[in-house]
Amino acid sequence: SYVGVHSTSFRDFLMKPELLRAIVDCGFEHPSEVQQETIPAAINGNDVLCQAKSGLGKTAVFVLATLNKIVPVPGTVSAIVLCHTRELAYQIKNEYSRFSKYLPNIKTEVFYGGVPLAHDKEILGDKEKCPNVIVGTPGRILALVRDKILRLSAISSFVIDECDKVLDAIDMRRDVQDIFKATPHNKQVLMFSATLSKEIRPVCKKFMQDPREIYVDDETKLTLHGLQQYYVALPEDGKNRKLSDLLDSLEFNQVVIFVKSVARAKLLNKLLNSCNFSSTCIHSGMPQQERIDIYKQFKDFSKRIMVATDIFGRGIDVERVNIVINYDIAEDADAYLHRVGRAGRFGTKGLAITFVSTDEDKKVLESVQERFEVNIAVLPGEIDPKTY
Ligand code: ADP
Ligand code: MG
Repeated sequence: SYVGVHSTSFRDFLMKPELLRAIVDCGFEHPSEVQQETIPAAINGNDVLCQAKSGLGKTAVFVLATLNKIVPVPGTVSAIVLCHTRELAYQIKNEYSRFSKYLPNIKTEVFYGGVPLAHDKEILGDKEKCPNVIVGTPGRILALVRDKILRLSAISSFVIDECDKVLDAIDMRRDVQDIFKATPHNKQVLMFSATLSKEIRPVCKKFMQDPREIYVDDETKLTLHGLQQYYVALPEDGKNRKLSDLLDSLEFNQVVIFVKSVARAKLLNKLLNSCNFSSTCIHSGMPQQERIDIYKQFKDFSKRIMVATDIFGRGIDVERVNIVINYDIAEDADAYLHRVGRAGRFGTKGLAITFVSTDEDKKVLESVQERFEVNIAVLPGEIDPKTY
């Protein structure tokens, strides 16, 4: 199968019975390959640096491992999870809520920018409300540490999701380093991504002690086999027409359309709405509460089409997305891989269509095909809807 599901059971991992019950409620029957490889090491207390395909359940690895480890002390933060966008932080917080359903003494909260600091202060300053697990983006978390609103002296688990992205940008890396310095020396560090270049691995390992390293070194293995990938060569001014034809003719549950700027996201969404498509958009140019509301609307299926910038390109898990359209191609092969990974979650089928209008676009498309040894053909006139 696509996901490499073996006959191992979640019960084979030595976990709290409350977690096993929650796993059953989540409908997880068997651990995926990455979960089988990584959960035991993480539960054993090892540091883990893990690269594994999009959509195969890396989140559950760290959520389960950290929840299993925590002995909650009221008013004490024991685990911290950092990631690069606010929507992803919000999504991860919800995963903690799902899996800690039968562990009522373990509380999780999410913190990110764009929300008044006073809100965070109220939660963290109140022993009753203070979470045991916090999820957040580095900028806000560091601000809370600096203002002494958040104390990290009892942290025993330190997690970075999408670690290559988080540690790649110099300013975000610096924030993470400063947060890290506020935590005790003796703690478990776990990091995850679908992409971990040889250059970023040593950067990650600086935060770790003798980590278990799980890499997909053969990048061709990162290809999602349930995902069909095509391109359409067309001039820039032909994109709108083609997009509307595709949205009319393809059978989709939900679709994400990626563009390269905030302005283009706004404009395209307006256009789609004016053509009566059930479309919404998400980008960094909108108020934070609105961003989360839009994420929720899309996740709960109130909208079928999401026009997005790259803030939606990594980590976001919306089960019913079966088509990704790169209206503007991604900036590089890694970004492409993450974007198309939004379709075909957990080994399900999906379709990715990329518009190619310039020579630079062609180069990105070629680099994707070379690196991941995938053949991206011209979009055929018709695709059997049963195949995506
Ligand atoms: P990744 O971070 O590796 O891209 P996610 O953690 O977002 O993947 O998981 C993708 C989807 O697969 C989520 O909807 C999650 O609930 C689901 N999932 C994860 N593990 C399992 C499992 N063992 N069985 C069934 N579904 C799973
Ligand atoms: Mg993920």
